Amino acid sequence: MPDAVSYVIAPPAVHSLAIAGTADRFPVNRIFCVGRNYAAHAREMGKDPDREPPFFFMKPAQALVDASAPTTIAYPPKTANFHHEIELVVAIGRGGSNIAAADALTHVYGYAVGLDMTRRDLQLAARDAGRPWEFGKSFAHSAPIGALHRAADIGHPSQATITLAVNGKSRQSSDIAKLIWSVAECIAVLSHHDPLEPGDLIMTGTPEGVAAVLPGDVMHASIGLLGDITVTVRDAAHA
Ligand code: MN
Repeated sequence: MPDAVSYVIAPPAVHSLAIAGTADRFPVNRIFCVGRNYAAHAREMGKDPDREPPFFFMKPAQALVDASAPTTIAYPPKTANFHHEIELVVAIGRGGSNIAAADALTHVYGYAVGLDMTRRDLQLAARDAGRPWEFGKSFAHSAPIGALHRAADIGHPSQATITLAVNGKSRQSSDIAKLIWSVAECIAVLSHHDPLEPGDLIMTGTPEGVAAVLPGDVMHASIGLLGDITVTVRDAAHA
C-alpha cells in the first residue's frame, strides 16, 4: 500500500454548495459563465443580441459564497461600479465530451439561484482594451449561490420568473424562457470545446437591469421553484 501523500502546504479547501432538503454537499469544480444570454441585457451592454454562438468565461471555485442562508459579501477592492447579475445556475453531475443537446440534460444534477457579481468598470475597461475579463469577473466572493435543487426532485425548469430586488426595489425581472441559448445548448457547446467534469457549474447569463450596489445594500434574488437568496453587501473595512 503506497504511503499517504505528504503535501508541502495544506491542500486547497473543497468549495461546495448546499443541497435543498439534505445535509449532503455538492463539491464544486469549475464555474463557467455564459456572456450575454438574454437579448435585452445584450442590448443594455451595447451589443447586438443576434444569435451568435454563446461565449464563456470562468470564475474559480474560490469565488463561491454559500448563500443557502442569508449571507454577506464584502464590497470588493479596485471598483467604483460593483454590479449584480442574477443567474440560473446549472450543476453538472456527470461529465462528458461532445454531448448532444438532446442528451445534455441527463448530465445535470440540479439547479440553483446565483449572482455573477461584477466589477463592471474593470470588466468594460478590459473588454474595450481587448484584454481578458478576469479582474472584472473572477475575484473573491463574486459568486454567491443558493442551495441546489436536484433535477431528480424538480425536473428541468425551462420557464420561471427570475427577479432581483435591491433594498426592496425591483431591479431585474424576466423569465428563464428568454435565454438565447438554452441550458441544454450551453452544455452541448461547452462540452465540444472542453470536457465537462462532475462538479462543474454553469452560470447561464443575466437578464436586463444590471446595476450597481453599495455597502449596506440588501440583494434579494429568486427564480421560480428554486426559491430565493438574500445577500447583503458589507463595507470593505469590515471584511
Ligand atoms: Mn453574468
